Amino acid sequence: TESAPVDLRACVEEAVQLLSLQRDKTEVTFANEVPEGLIALGDNQRLIQVFINLLSNARDASPDGGHIIAEGYRRAGLACVSVTDDGPGISAEHRERILEPFFTTKEPGEGTGLGLAMVYSIVEDHGGQLELVSPANPDTGRGACFIVQLPQEK
Ligand code: ADP
Ligand code: MG
Repeated sequence: TESAPVDLRACVEEAVQLLSLQRDKTEVTFANEVPEGLIALGDNQRLIQVFINLLSNARDASPDGGHIIAEGYRRAGLACVSVTDDGPGISAEHRERILEPFFTTKEPGEGTGLGLAMVYSIVEDHGGQLELVSPANPDTGRGACFIVQLPQEK
């Protein structure tokens, strides 16, 4: 894995642009609220892949007119980016299995079940952590929030 300063806002932006090219079923909006200057040490291409996977899962889970938001902050010496959707969230039962390769709840042909396994291994290779908060919104009991936590530039 490359280890160079990577601008996380730019990674999210690149992932959003790529996903916006695929216009499909739902009109879902993406908001990139990661602040400028949030830098992780790592591999730009692989970190873009992390956000492509998280944002496409969020979109798959979103209702029509759903909102997906990426936010960023520094915590405990780590650069953190959260991706939050307003889909149904992830049950405790599924939560145990979502990192398993080939675990998917999607129709055959719609999901490989490899996205989160890839996210996890990339984050691990960076010496970071992946956290899931579900439901993301305690008031509605809905939404999933994945938080990627990465070592920052020294
Ligand atoms: P795939 O997208 O091919 O199904 P993933 O590894 O990316 O594989 O995700 C595994 C499973 O985790 C999904 O099938 C879905 O059940 C669940 N999941 C992932 N992200 C979300 C999300 N944002 N909201 C609800 N469920 C999700
Ligand atoms: Mg996926």
